Amino acid sequence: MRLTTFEDARKKILEHAQGHGTETLFLHKANGRVLAAEIVAQLDSPRFDNSEVDGFAVKASDISSEPIQLKMQGSVFAGQSELPYLEEGSALRIFTGAPIPPGADSVVMQEDCEWKDETVTIRRFEGDGSHIRKSGSEYLAGQLLLAKGMAITPPVIGLIASNGVSDVLGVKLPKVTILSTGNELAPIRKQLEPGQIYDSNGIALSTAVRALGPEMVVTGRLRDDEESVLDGLEKALEAADVIITSGGVSVGDHDLIRPALKKLGVEELIWGISVRPGKPFYFGKKGKKLIFGLPGNPVSGLVCFQLFVRPALLQMMGHDEGAFQPISATLESAAQGDPSRTVFARANLDLKNGVYTAFPADAQESYMSSGLAGSNGLIAVPCGAAEIASGSKVDVYPLKWTP
Ligand code: AMP
Ligand code: MG
Repeated sequence: MRLTTFEDARKKILEHAQGHGTETLFLHKANGRVLAAEIVAQLDSPRFDNSEVDGFAVKASDISSEPIQLKMQGSVFAGQSELPYLEEGSALRIFTGAPIPPGADSVVMQEDCEWKDETVTIRRFEGDGSHIRKSGSEYLAGQLLLAKGMAITPPVIGLIASNGVSDVLGVKLPKVTILSTGNELAPIRKQLEPGQIYDSNGIALSTAVRALGPEMVVTGRLRDDEESVLDGLEKALEAADVIITSGGVSVGDHDLIRPALKKLGVEELIWGISVRPGKPFYFGKKGKKLIFGLPGNPVSGLVCFQLFVRPALLQMMGHDEGAFQPISATLESAAQGDPSRTVFARANLDLKNGVYTAFPADAQESYMSSGLAGSNGLIAVPCGAAEIASGSKVDVYPLKWTP
């Protein structure tokens, strides 16, 4: 096993993680996806001059002094289509979002007015044009509204919807298959036989993938025999864009993933990384399909998912690197290193007074899933560093389980 460094492994994986095209998305299904085409405004914003406040529409030329009395002419509500003409010496009651009636050029907020029966007294006037949202003052129809590559969030969806557009072109989600391997694995609802353990990786990994967006996740369990592994991988290679296996990729007699992938024509790009936890990690490619072989050890598997699979999936889905970069934080307690591997210490990442701090968790052994479950970051202790002292600056990879 020739070990690849963390940096080289990540670089190589991202070089090969390419998108699988685009598709039209209904707006209500587009959250979390990435725009595959720019959005051009279909309407002016605002579409028509309208009132910014609840108050009174007036003519600036009528306000010769403050206070001044005007005649109450009537009302204009939001959504009203037939508008009265504002006569000289008069005011129209107007509400937020209502169209500015012809003849009016300013709005006085109601806090600056007193009104009773047929008269309105304007106590303070803020000038010609005040409190009017002018048509087209934000953008005009035909103008570029949103650039290609932007992440689609609820405000983005709202902006697109406000232009009367009901679907968008988005980057396609990759189809993912997850396969757990091991004769010891049992489904989580079954009574365990002697020597069995629950297949916790299957559900943890499929949940992690689904949370990023891909819906067409197929999961399966393979026994440690050549036929079962070959058959499972062959079907997965037909159906999925990305295959994630758990277990069976180390150097034991039952580690059948590598030889099976080789038989199926998958090009091995990485096998073994100088990373702790996570040494027996595999990455290969067939055409545009990516295959990630994660160690069966639950902590190693999920750490490798965070460090390598998540960035690849996000990049394939059109997200930029910002979605998976480390944060610089101050260590609050010493972190242990390894002479020959980059250590990713499970840690608590916190933001205190605007500064990120990181505190290594107690349960650092790679069989201790509780240490990972209780953490929200991975402190990168560079290969060769024996220990990083408390107070040092470190890179921390946030453990993000959503995009
Ligand atoms: P392997 O990588 O197959 O040698 O497995 C390493 C360790 O992880 C062993 O202790 C396995 O029992 C355990 N393991 C493998 N697969 C799973 C799984 N799907 N869920 C939980 N533990 C697993
Ligand atoms: Mg195994």
